Amino acid sequence: MPAERMSLTADPSRCVGAGHCVRSAPEVFDQSEDGTVVLLRAEVPESDGVLDALDLCPSLATRLG
Ligand code: SF4
Repeated sequence: MPAERMSLTADPSRCVGAGHCVRSAPEVFDQSEDGTVVLLRAEVPESDGVLDALDLCPSLATRLG
């Protein structure tokens, strides 16, 4: 059965540059030169790495939807 797909948003203005998202799901998140989040893909298959990234973000900059 194919994985559910998730839509993601990332708000650089909320991001504090902690980098948890990049370490958890580097295929989905990157950081700009100033350390703030860059969303590489806005729709992805559900995965533990992406769910961890959302859970670990200290500033709620990354969200579903
Ligand atoms: S985990 Fe959150 S605060 Fe840290 S870089 Fe990613 S979006 Fe920014």
